[in-house]
Amino acid sequence: MNDAAALRCIGRFAPSPTGPLHFGSLIAALASYADARARQGQWLLRIEDLDPPREHPGAAESFPRVLEYFGFTWDGPILRQSRRHDAYESALAQLAERGKVFPCACSRLDLESSATGIGGERVYPGTCRQGLLPGRSPRAWRMRVGNEPVDFVDRLQGAQQQVLARDVGDFVVKRADGFWGYQLAVVVDDAAQGVTDVVRGADLLASTPRQIWLQRELGLPQPHYLHVPVAINSDGEKLSKQTLARPLPMSDPLPVLINAWRFLDQAWQGEEFANVREFWEWAIPRWDVRRLPPVAMLTARTGKAGGL
Ligand code: GLU
Repeated sequence: MNDAAALRCIGRFAPSPTGPLHFGSLIAALASYADARARQGQWLLRIEDLDPPREHPGAAESFPRVLEYFGFTWDGPILRQSRRHDAYESALAQLAERGKVFPCACSRLDLESSATGIGGERVYPGTCRQGLLPGRSPRAWRMRVGNEPVDFVDRLQGAQQQVLARDVGDFVVKRADGFWGYQLAVVVDDAAQGVTDVVRGADLLASTPRQIWLQRELGLPQPHYLHVPVAINSDGEKLSKQTLARPLPMSDPLPVLINAWRFLDQAWQGEEFANVREFWEWAIPRWDVRRLPPVAMLTARTGKAGGL
């Protein structure tokens, strides 16, 4: 890649503060960091604090400290989605002006009998698409989707396609409780921050067509996508705050970092490092997307070194 192209590469890590960072978070952070830094790109940190009821006190504040401890350095200020209300509001207004969104009165209960689509979510049956039924009050805002396939090529998972009307239905961009939908916020912020390369866990692969749909409707550029395998435990569950994955330890970071590196099948011959800085100096030039396991899920190694 020539210098001009390398300079344009901007990656990011965008954790939600619904709990402490864990081994699964480290894999996503490591992959996006190594991928951007290997191309002399920038790496940004964004805290996706969009969902106060699900947030864990102190988690957002701990993220920079934990990432620093593992040797990550980010460019520019940390963006917090809780401060981005105006940007999301103006995106919603832009969509509303063109009739691309509509108010929806349906509750979760109303949608219970709808078919299940991609990722186990209900496919929106279109109840409020042509206007609210008499006597119903608006709760959420939904984005209108269409029947034309949305295609993209993931840098690891290959060609992907969804027909949003069939697989997802019109999706929420502003929730009934007044908070912003993840899909809208992520698209607005990736564009505002000039992100060129989204590298994240494959659990978000199924969200990407919705994000591409929004980018098209908002006239925003489409970044490149790379969805790395997510770590699952021996019960086959994704490591997450919900499955009570252990927080990253704040002592002895190297074995955990090396576990994350090896989880992604990167070159490894038992090297030893004095500190995390030495690890990164060695690792970044060796980052190789072609070595990544082209699967959505992999079992994490357990053990004392901090697998889970
Ligand atoms: N905030 C999301 C999460 O913690 C990640 C969003 C993204 O990388 O697009 O799962």
